Amino acid sequence: LPKLPVFEAISKHDPESTVVIHSKSGRRFQYGELLGDVAKARDRLYESAGREDLDGERIAFLAENSYDYVVTLLAILGAKSIAVPMSPAFPASELQYILNHSEALMLLATSKFASKAQEVLKTELDVQPTFLQLDKLQGGGPHEKVTLDKSSPGSAGMMLYTSGTTNRPKGVLIPQAAMTAQARSLIQAWEYAPSDHLLHLLPLHHIHGTINAIFTPLFTGSSIEFLYPFNADAVWKRLAAPFTTTPPPDQPKITFLTAVPTIYSRLLSSFKTLPEDLQEPAREAISPAHLRLTISGSAALPTPIKRAWADLSKGNILLERFGMTEVGMALSCGLDPNDRVDGSVGWPLPGVEARLVDVDTHQVIEKGQEKDLETGRERVGEIQLRGPTIFAEYWRNEEATKKEFVEGKDGRGSWFKTGDVAVRRPGPEKAGRSEMKTQREWARGDMYFILGRKSADIIKSGGEKVSALEVEREMLSLPQVAEVAVLAVPSGKWGQKVGAVVILDREHCKEGKWSPLEMRRALKERLAGYKIPQVLRVVDHIPRNAMGKINKKVLVKEVFREEFS
Ligand code: ATP
Ligand code: MG
Repeated sequence: LPKLPVFEAISKHDPESTVVIHSKSGRRFQYGELLGDVAKARDRLYESAGREDLDGERIAFLAENSYDYVVTLLAILGAKSIAVPMSPAFPASELQYILNHSEALMLLATSKFASKAQEVLKTELDVQPTFLQLDKLQGGGPHEKVTLDKSSPGSAGMMLYTSGTTNRPKGVLIPQAAMTAQARSLIQAWEYAPSDHLLHLLPLHHIHGTINAIFTPLFTGSSIEFLYPFNADAVWKRLAAPFTTTPPPDQPKITFLTAVPTIYSRLLSSFKTLPEDLQEPAREAISPAHLRLTISGSAALPTPIKRAWADLSKGNILLERFGMTEVGMALSCGLDPNDRVDGSVGWPLPGVEARLVDVDTHQVIEKGQEKDLETGRERVGEIQLRGPTIFAEYWRNEEATKKEFVEGKDGRGSWFKTGDVAVRRPGPEKAGRSEMKTQREWARGDMYFILGRKSADIIKSGGEKVSALEVEREMLSLPQVAEVAVLAVPSGKWGQKVGAVVILDREHCKEGKWSPLEMRRALKERLAGYKIPQVLRVVDHIPRNAMGKINKKVLVKEVFREEFS
């Protein structure tokens, strides 16, 4: 195998220590067998391709959340190729799009998804990928010593498709060096350790599930337990198991959990229906004493969820971070619970450089200039990022790549325009900060508060700018509101007006106990008049993608159809 940093790290871990557990079956795999299995799988790729030079080729794959996924991903990197993980939940049309777009040389699938893969291959494709069924990759035999040769990692990397929240998913090319830089940054910030046991609940075709929750823990010899697809009851049972009166011996306690806000929200509602004898063990399991780190990201974390989680977990405060496919994780709150300020995604992670660029004047908002001197209002800026964690390019889309970068004036590389806007405020002053400091702790910075996407969350109404995320946050703190999406609705008079699509909280809205007027009145105490939704629709369901995100462009046209005519 080539000498990739991830392979080097794996080769140094205790071979007897666990790398993966399949939660349902209890099957375990050890670090000692991993590289041997990776080398074997890599050789099968060579065999099937009929050549050993696969440098930079795209290899797409369909695998369940399992040891086989981990081996497949690493085997593709080991072949110096570009891994393109696809979601088995995607319809054939989406898989077709990815195979064509990435110009995949091969399509791999585990037995579970072999027929799905074959089905896609039968459709008319622009490319003809070689099919290889790749599963049962674990030899389970004696640990094999794998030598790492001196060859360079070539073009090894991943191609991940964005969530497609605002448009067709974009193919983001992430070289192995950027993947490694992302992992190192997270290890420094979140202090992954060999003693960490992660519960993995996420899909594996996005950066959150792959880099944060697989690739990174491999560096530190942490273990990963797959429990997928997400089922709230099963998660509670698993979390609680080590804390019951008869703890099963083979279920280590979970120390690390990373998920999206909708997962925390569903866990909170399902907790109420847990059998009584599980409730206390479940609360203990998620308390700060045991669950070292509970991370939320991929979409804005509603404050009521954060508060409810802290209450339930005896004070475990969700750590929010901000990231995207193109940049990995970029901003994060800190390990000190005092740093997890409501509504903030923290400050730049180690190695990441961030700046805010005023959306009106296009000037960089320097430290100390966060407020407009004339109006006293906070200046709103686009987050721009640079550093070794940033992606290389949008695949085969030079134009888009060019458009999203701005040249730096200091000769230190160009900045990536995230399209997300934010305000920046000084971090909280803390007493006893130095006590909390560990050697590896990275420097605290001023804190970013995400207002939303420039394209979809900033509503321009009569010369004012309204952040959909801010309005959503306030509406969610009303007891009547269970879920909400705030949207820009076209308006002849204002250009755009603030619209809201709401799912009511059943308990609080029993007949007659709710009226739009009452909601407006409650919001008046929290928001300036121009931010209060002018149009409001109550619905039963708000569609979200696999990461709990809402496509607002589609939703607004569906719900406010008549306003578009
Ligand atoms: P597409 O680019 O295809 O429209 P997407 O931007 O949703 O989809 P991802 O790269 O998976 O695809 O998601 C990145 C985006 O998720 C960010 O640009 C940001 O808008 C949002 N996001 C991530 N973390 C947070 C957070 N903590 N708070 C608010 N928004 C977040
Ligand atoms: Mg995006």
